[in-house]
Amino acid sequence: MMRAAVIGSGFGGLSLAIRLQSAGIQTTVFEARDLEGGRAYVFKDKGYTFDAGPTVITDPSALEELFEASGRKLSDYVELLPVAPFYRLCWEDGDVFDYVNDQDELDRQIVARNPADKEGYRKFLAYSQDLLKEGYLKLGAVPFLDFASMVKAAPELMRLQAWRSVYDKVASYIQDEHLRQAFSFHSLLVGGNPFATSSIYALIHALERRWGVWFPRGGTGALIQAMVRLLKDLGGEVRLNSPVERITMANGRATGVVVNGEALAFDMVASNADVVHTYQRLLGQEPRGQKEGAKLASRRHSMSLFVIYFGLKRVHPEVRHHTVLFGPRYRELIAEIFKGPDLPDDFSLYLHAPTRTDPSLAPEGCDAFYVLAPVPHLASADIDWAVEGPRYRDRILAYLEERYIPGLTADLDTCRIFTPVDFRDQLNAHQGSAFSLEPILTQSAWFRVHNRDDQIPNLYFVGAGTHPGAGVPGVVGSAKATAALMIEDARQPA
Ligand SMILES: Cc1cc2nc3c(=O)[nH]c(=O)nc-3n(C[C@H](O)[C@H](O)[C@H](O)COP(=O)(O)OP(=O)(O)OC[C@H]3O[C@@H](n4cnc5c(N)ncnc54)[C@H](O)[C@@H]3O)c2cc1C
Repeated sequence: MMRAAVIGSGFGGLSLAIRLQSAGIQTTVFEARDLEGGRAYVFKDKGYTFDAGPTVITDPSALEELFEASGRKLSDYVELLPVAPFYRLCWEDGDVFDYVNDQDELDRQIVARNPADKEGYRKFLAYSQDLLKEGYLKLGAVPFLDFASMVKAAPELMRLQAWRSVYDKVASYIQDEHLRQAFSFHSLLVGGNPFATSSIYALIHALERRWGVWFPRGGTGALIQAMVRLLKDLGGEVRLNSPVERITMANGRATGVVVNGEALAFDMVASNADVVHTYQRLLGQEPRGQKEGAKLASRRHSMSLFVIYFGLKRVHPEVRHHTVLFGPRYRELIAEIFKGPDLPDDFSLYLHAPTRTDPSLAPEGCDAFYVLAPVPHLASADIDWAVEGPRYRDRILAYLEERYIPGLTADLDTCRIFTPVDFRDQLNAHQGSAFSLEPILTQSAWFRVHNRDDQIPNLYFVGAGTHPGAGVPGVVGSAKATAALMIEDARQPA
């Protein structure tokens, strides 16, 4: 029986392991931390459950398909609850937009701002649906291994004007500035600057409209645990507290991994860890690792995030499950987040209130929250986060208290922060990036890390640094592409 090692238990690593195991490849996942999930780690404090990362679960059909590929049903392992509105969007001038899936309600809110934008929105939605079909449904789980595959996709990319930015395309259809923000901020959710990232990423809007926005009962961590259970039911294994130190090589092939000082042999190795970390650290003893690592390190990496997880001894039913709080600046703020050189004075925030959908995530009569601010990564801005972190936390909490959550400080029951330094040190993320390589056109598809290394025939990649990129649907799609390659390779005669 072929044996595969998967380094890392993020959504991508677990999805890959499930597919390999159900195809009869004996699979072991090595996770450096004490819990599975990667960015989807879980913190538990004083009876509160905080999902560390992804909270907006889109395209459940990709997850259902993953379970079905193993002859199981997602709903037997975890329950997905619908979230409405998808997001509440708030601006400092008091404007509020409920981004819902009901067309009449959307139209009513759009017309109230600018009647001409009703038609503009229709055209944008049709464009986004086109992108979804061409960019996600057709190409989202296809490995771009050679340049020819890119050339094949090029005419469609040209037709869809993929060289234009998300904001640029949205602005070509919609006039109202708040609506332009409402329909362009999504690329930030996968690490893309709406003013620089390819308009292909505007497909996220159609993806949300088509399949809705969901939240697992018990939190995103419950979805991760459902995947771990499925993997184990299939006979696979997850080893926690098992940081891979090195990928071993002989005769140009990967032969296994070194974990906690022990060399373990495998027929195939796949990395779900950060792509720079994998080449520079895990393969640093090889010329291939040094060369590819240096190349990837010099490419553009997504911004980082500053996250505050906090529990309050009071329930705030008026705060929706997902709220985006736009600050006073949009274009300029985003430019500073992506380019630095300092931490901007103002911020735009995403506020997560999971207890709106599942009250069991906080003690009785209490509310669990997290609030995140996109911030420059460690190479864009020289910030001492040990000093700045607590200060930034206090500024953000004071802002929330003043505008959205009165009494926050007095009700504060528990609070912890996660900074760019934590992304670097706890997740091995290059420059503390929250989403790996920045999703610009010249770093997408064939230009992203290939699902199989170009020179080492049994070394594979899965997760945010590979095609199609970050976000739960993205990395689940990348696992499908990588698994197809590995399963095909495993069937080749030795
Ligand atoms: C705060 C935040 C909020 C987000 N919100 C959303 C959202 O709402 N919706 C959405 O779709 N996406 C969201 N995202 C993006 C999404 O979470 C990620 O793109 C996705 O989860 C990344 O998955 P991955 O498979 O690339 O692996 P990762 O989650 O990056 O996991 C990689 C794993 O590899 C492990 N590892 C690293 N080095 C080693 C080693 N040497 N040995 C062993 N293990 C190692 C790490 O510990 C980690 O567990 C969010 C991200 C963040 C950070």
